[in-house]
Amino acid sequence: MNAKIIDGKKIAAELQDKLKNDIAALPSSPGLGIIQVGDDEASTIYVRNKLKAAAAIGMNAVLHKFADNVTQQEIANLIMTLNNDKNINGMIVQLPLPAHLNEEELLDLIAPEKDVDGFHPLNIGRLQNGSDKALLAATPKGILYLLEKEKIELTGKNALIIGCSKIVGRPAGMLLLQQGCTVTLAHIHTQNLPELVKMADIIVAACGCPQMVKAEWVKTGAVLIDVGINRINGKLCGDIETVAANKASYFTPVPGGVGPMTVAMLLQNTYEAYLKQN
Ligand code: NAD
Repeated sequence: MNAKIIDGKKIAAELQDKLKNDIAALPSSPGLGIIQVGDDEASTIYVRNKLKAAAAIGMNAVLHKFADNVTQQEIANLIMTLNNDKNINGMIVQLPLPAHLNEEELLDLIAPEKDVDGFHPLNIGRLQNGSDKALLAATPKGILYLLEKEKIELTGKNALIIGCSKIVGRPAGMLLLQQGCTVTLAHIHTQNLPELVKMADIIVAACGCPQMVKAEWVKTGAVLIDVGINRINGKLCGDIETVAANKASYFTPVPGGVGPMTVAMLLQNTYEAYLKQN
């Protein structure tokens, strides 16, 4: 099988170049507020990447960083302030939050039209209804963008999503359902995962288990979308065994596949939010 690499790094860079040109033509710069609590190492890297990418396209991203012991009320107050700030078009709360904070309550406070992570219940409901008003979660939106960019036929295909998180698996399943796929959502309690993998035309692996999906389970010609970001002996790897790519028709590498699309889609969402608000 001559598998084609889906080059997320290149596709994200092209999208960001386009956004840079589009933003240059706007009367003002779209604003993105980023709320971070504490010094979680991975969160700090993600936030730094988002700030850097935003600056590179002329977007005004502002970091609001709190110490670990911040109160729920202090963050709630900031969210309300940003909701009312006309220069801020999008806002995200970098997850995870420390255990003493109520994540759900805080996400619910974000004005849905500024919810550029797509985690507010209204945006999740709109996604469920197939409404084009929905702001979509960045990673699933990026996955769909990659599939569309490669012109991969989705209608009637068996799509298996491994991992059902609110931020990746569930919205990815909903998006693929709307594209005409027959969707199976697998999770930690799923039985006979290898059998499900063998039937899948499209596999979206988002379970955070390094190299768990074995090449021998994968159907020849399957499309492999690997969302996992894991480390084995310090080296990055995905949730799908790397050699499975040899059997695929298309696959996303780790790193350089889905990861770069997540940042690009956050910027795209903020740009779209700006347009809707102005
Ligand atoms: P999560 O921990 O919130 O959810 C994991 C899901 O996988 C759960 O539904 C769980 O039931 C399922 N699962 C766990 N072990 C399983 C197993 N052995 N078999 C089947 N299902 C299993 O994870 P998340 O936040 O969605 O992240 C998943 C992975 O994707 C992680 O590696 C994360 O780092 C990565 N991620 C990447 C990006 C990106 O931009 N590329 C974005 C978000 C998450």
